[in-house]
Order: sequence, then structure tokens, then C-alpha cells
Amino acid sequence: MKGRDPRSMVDIKEVVVERLGGPFQCYGHCKEEASLKFVDSGVRLVGAVVCPSGYVSRLVGYGPQADPEGLLSFVMSQTTGALPLTASDIRVATRYSTDLGIGGSGRVLGEAYWTQNYGKAKSQDPNRPSLFMCSNCGKLFVQPASSSSSLCGGCSPERASMPVESE
Ligand SMILES: [Zn+2]
Ligand SMILES: [Zn+2]
Repeated sequence: MKGRDPRSMVDIKEVVVERLGGPFQCYGHCKEEASLKFVDSGVRLVGAVVCPSGYVSRLVGYGPQADPEGLLSFVMSQTTGALPLTASDIRVATRYSTDLGIGGSGRVLGEAYWTQNYGKAKSQDPNRPSLFMCSNCGKLFVQPASSSSSLCGGCSPERASMPVESE
């Protein structure tokens, strides 16, 4: 028997795809349309709002309840100390069936989210370290915001063939 509350992660993913999947506008990077892509986080369901250049406007963790600590540790693990990040940069939201336009009543899911380059940490520096998603392998990686590459170090042929020590 399938209980309705809490919903399984599979149901939550379906709701996210159908009701919270965008499109969005890239925030603070370009004017292109961004879409929601799922990140392989290992434990939790995490979505990334990514523009065609790979820039990540937002990371969102979904679950029966919002888990801001879990998302914070995930964002920290992905940004490896290169970006300013504190617990107050993680926000939470609750989605109810009425907001989502789906049947039933009550809370459907919780979200914890991080918006890149937002709030106190906001920087106008075009070379600020920023989180991107590789357009080839889907991994998250950090590079300057102004970079024209959407490939991580492992997928970029130029970077792979160019050892860092040589000039
Ligand atoms: Zn963009
Ligand atoms: Zn890659």
C-alpha cells in the first residue's frame, strides 16, 4: 500500500518534473533560459537550474521535509571552499498541493535551496569563482563566471592535453 504522506522520493521527483521544472531565467549570469537538471548527489534529490552555458543559478534539495543542513553540506562539497557560503545562504520553502495544482491537500514536499551569487555574498567580479554543470558529463565544477567553456576539466580536450606546469 502506498501512503500519500510522506510521499516516496519517486513521487517527489515526478511532482518536481511536472510542476516545478521551469523553464527559468538564468539569474545573475546571462539572459538565456535555464532549465532544471538533476544532480547525482548520492543521497538526496537535488536539482540544478542551469543555463545553456552551464552556469548554475540555483541548487535545490527536495524531500518530504526541507533539509537545509543537508543541502549546505552538499553545496560545500561541490564548491570546495571556492565560494563564500554560510548556513544563512540556504533558504527553505514548503510546497502544498494547492500551490502545485495537484489533487489532495496538505504539504507535498519541502525544498532547501541555494541561489548562486545572491544576497550578502553577491559579487560583480566577472572572474568570480562560480559553480557550473558540465554539459558533457553533468558534474558540477567551479570556474570563473565569465568562462566560455561549459566543460569540466575532465571533459575539456584543451585542458586535458595541457599540463598545468607547462607554459
Ligand atoms: Zn547564464
Ligand atoms: Zn565533464
